[in-house]
Amino acid sequence: MQLEVLGSYGGESIDCRMTCLLVNGGIALDAGSLSQALCIERQVKVRSIVLTHSHMDHTNSLPFFIENVYGKAEGAIDIYASAATTYSIRKYLFNNATWPDFTRLPNHLLPAVRFHEIEAEVPFTLDGVTFTPVEVSHTVPTFGFLVEHQGRSILWSSDTGPTQRLWEVANRTGGLQALMIDTSFDNAMQQIADVSLHLTPATLERELEKLEREVPVLIHHLKPPCVEAIHREVAALGRGDLEFLEQGRVYEF
Ligand SMILES: [Zn+2]
Ligand SMILES: [Zn+2]
Repeated sequence: MQLEVLGSYGGESIDCRMTCLLVNGGIALDAGSLSQALCIERQVKVRSIVLTHSHMDHTNSLPFFIENVYGKAEGAIDIYASAATTYSIRKYLFNNATWPDFTRLPNHLLPAVRFHEIEAEVPFTLDGVTFTPVEVSHTVPTFGFLVEHQGRSILWSSDTGPTQRLWEVANRTGGLQALMIDTSFDNAMQQIADVSLHLTPATLERELEKLEREVPVLIHHLKPPCVEAIHREVAALGRGDLEFLEQGRVYEF
């Protein structure tokens, strides 16, 4: 499977785009930077979007992406999200006040966007890629995803604090090529990380005690002001299994 990292940060600045991956060129995993990272021709090829949760750093490009691709390909854009995420996006984003309700435009029979509700541990398959939602621990209902294609798999978690089920899935999944996980704040911001349910290098190290196998762990969702400190603190852990998920890189798993 091909995984292109369009945005690997938990905030935005000149060098940092918000969370967004492209699976095999056509499925977006989160939508933090679809319209910022891709030219229009490539945006038109994205027909499905899988969302972890409703927060802005994972959804903010949806209005502009939909506007960019509308009418340029057949059918609706399909968005796969939990009931809670779907509710939030419809109520607070596509509410005709913040942005037009594209689930009813140009009309409700042929809308620009369709939502599909997904549930924890119930797999669904898009273009041969199977996604299994895994509950993680964040301030709003949030999924990580086990992503499987042709016998190989990765475990993608975006925002989470200390959690349990994700590690159980990592430990029992054969063919796991990599695990991606939140490290949003540096250790000096531990209190903020704890109340907002994110990880720091210190809590990441404790979480990794739950991992019972050797697999590359790719850190992402760094908050832009914390990037340098997080890099220093992760290096000080002295672990060979930790890498940073590189924005702009195309991974093959
Ligand atoms: Zn986030
Ligand atoms: Zn979040």
